[in-house]
Amino acid sequence: MKIAIAGAGVAGSYLGCLLQKRGHKIEIFESSKKENHWAVCAWGASRHMLSKFSKEAGLNFDDYIFHVGKILRMALPNNIQEYLDLKGLVTYDKHKWEHDLLEGVKVTYGIKCIPETFPFNEYDYVIDCTGLHRTLLPKSKHDFIIPAYEYFVENIQGIEEFYVIGYKGARGYFWYFPLENGKGYVGAGDIDKKYYGIEEFFKLHPEARIVKKIGRPIRLAPPKRMEPFNCGNVIGAGESIGCVFPMLGEGIIPSLLCCDILLEILDKSNGKFDFKQYRKKVLQKFEYYDDVYRIVRLKMDGRLSTIKHIHLLMNMYRNMKKEEERFGFEVSFQKMTRLVNAL
Ligand SMILES: Cc1cc2nc3c(=O)[nH]c(=O)nc-3n(C[C@H](O)[C@H](O)[C@H](O)COP(=O)(O)OP(=O)(O)OC[C@H]3O[C@@H](n4cnc5c(N)ncnc54)[C@H](O)[C@@H]3O)c2cc1C
Repeated sequence: MKIAIAGAGVAGSYLGCLLQKRGHKIEIFESSKKENHWAVCAWGASRHMLSKFSKEAGLNFDDYIFHVGKILRMALPNNIQEYLDLKGLVTYDKHKWEHDLLEGVKVTYGIKCIPETFPFNEYDYVIDCTGLHRTLLPKSKHDFIIPAYEYFVENIQGIEEFYVIGYKGARGYFWYFPLENGKGYVGAGDIDKKYYGIEEFFKLHPEARIVKKIGRPIRLAPPKRMEPFNCGNVIGAGESIGCVFPMLGEGIIPSLLCCDILLEILDKSNGKFDFKQYRKKVLQKFEYYDDVYRIVRLKMDGRLSTIKHIHLLMNMYRNMKKEEERFGFEVSFQKMTRLVNAL
């Protein structure tokens, strides 16, 4: 089949690579210029899952790892500190990973796909991998995004591990994700756009040198709230259809899981993509993300009760516990309850 992909982020690069390997004729269109293209993200994800996805694509994930985390320190309101044991959470060279996936795939940079001018009828299918922008699909009334930005820094001393500050009311969080040799990402997502922690970080680390400032909001609305997943011959994949874990704004693994569903359905299709089956499988896979999203929104609005909403909390815990390896950190009910109460 002849397939166009809009967006060369994590979903677009992975799909481009695997669809081409399957013999499809692939063309990718990416809005940023090649020299400016950057994998906007803090580059943290589960080693276990990325090793699997890399293997599928013929890459060795170990070649991309920067830092294997041991512990994540969380500073919570009222001077509460919490520590999470990490089980495979790493930072990796996401930029290079995506670049290497695209080796041999036809990519045209500097082309912003818009529905008014895109030549849809030249392709059997067009995949919208434009992430937050969702440019080729209709907007959703239930969308919810959180403003975020970060600095790529170098020459950091005295902080070697993952560090986050959770904001009161779960209205966002600050992060420091270590890369390699004193490099790291310092950033925050914050519904109130105050980004507490960033200024404080630079005061504590005057030695830090800023390499670049990057940012865009993160979608927290899960797939259930980001329908439709298709329109005409366009199929959405990744963050464009809400494949982001709402509690953390973590979208690498969810986007890749979504791509695997798309590939599975396309493999089974006899020249005709089964949109209904795709919708069903995506909604099934990310069903509990909607409960997580409700927890986050209730907390943000000051309406979360650990008694009244215990079913939501239990459901989040049970599902996360089953997927501990996929998250790359320990999932403990006690810690989760303490965290929810502290925020
Ligand atoms: C500051 C920040 C930090 C984050 N940190 C993490 C993290 O540490 N771990 C994690 O798991 N997730 C993180 N996320 C979320 C994660 O980066 C995204 O959910 C994930 O990258 C989504 O993948 P995607 O391929 O769907 O979209 P993206 O990776 O956003 O890729 C979309 C691509 O489409 C291009 N594009 C957009 N519009 C058009 C258009 N009209 N035409 C053509 N191309 C277009 C963009 O330039 C981009 O290259 C972070 C997000 C942000 C903003």
